[in-house]
Amino acid sequence: MRIADYSVTRAILERHGFTFKKSFGQNFLTDTNILQKIVDTAEVDKNVNVIEIGPGIGALTEFLAEKAAEVMAFEIDDRLIPILADTLRDFDNVQVVNQDILKADLQTQIKQFKNPDLPIKVVANLPYYITTPILMHLIESKIPFAEFVVMMQKEVADRIAAEPNTKAYGSLSIAVQYYMAAEVAFIVPRTVFVPAPNVDSAILKMVRRDQPLVEVQNEDFLFDVAKASFVHRRKTLWNNLTNRFGKSENVKEKLRQALEMAGLRPSVRGEALSIADFGRLADALKEQGF
Ligand code: SAM
Repeated sequence: MRIADYSVTRAILERHGFTFKKSFGQNFLTDTNILQKIVDTAEVDKNVNVIEIGPGIGALTEFLAEKAAEVMAFEIDDRLIPILADTLRDFDNVQVVNQDILKADLQTQIKQFKNPDLPIKVVANLPYYITTPILMHLIESKIPFAEFVVMMQKEVADRIAAEPNTKAYGSLSIAVQYYMAAEVAFIVPRTVFVPAPNVDSAILKMVRRDQPLVEVQNEDFLFDVAKASFVHRRKTLWNNLTNRFGKSENVKEKLRQALEMAGLRPSVRGEALSIADFGRLADALKEQGF
């Protein structure tokens, strides 16, 4: 029997008198086939350390602990800590850290792995209310995670993996794909969770690139320009850039020059630009003194 078997999950919750906290995004997986698929997708083995975010009662942690060298699981809810000590008592390669992942000093934490030199993968069924902040926190930590295999709302997974010229494509696609190759691995119906969330989910697999997708003078500025270009999705790049940088004749002249240098028409929409286009645009704007 597995922690995630519906009857086992129910018994654990009952034994500990646990009630779900909606504000923590608590939807627990009760489908062992899906858990097996997640671990297979992440290709976890004894040469990999895993960081899990939000272990809940340990449904995914159990599968990860069997395969990985070590698992470090960050759980915000104090009430789950004694439950995890119970459900995961047979494993000596799991550390549960009772912390908000967004406040965790990950650089310091990962030194706690017994073998800190192994590649680290992030495997998690994320709390959906903070999917994007968590991903940005992980990326901005500058830790060279080898891979993320994470469950999230299908709609957010689609936005991250989106290609140019699609409705889902936007600054989030660019912020992630700049560092990682992203693809939706499979879809998960809402019915396999207790309680069932209001939306369907997807497993997104993100693999770190050897180098960022494009070389730019200033990464933060690239993301700033990308974000500004999608503020009004239906407006042109020119419109969005003048909104961001200003509308004086002097600024407009510099914007014109930058667009020409980057080989972009002012009438194009942000959603038509590839990440390489945004890279050229950001560098051209920098050369014009922005
Ligand atoms: N992994 C379990 C599963 O698949 O059944 C639970 C997943 S549930 C979607 C999300 C988990 O993240 C919950 O256990 C919740 O308490 C935890 N959580 C929510 N916000 C968190 C945060 N800021 N830091 C760490 N854990 C958090």
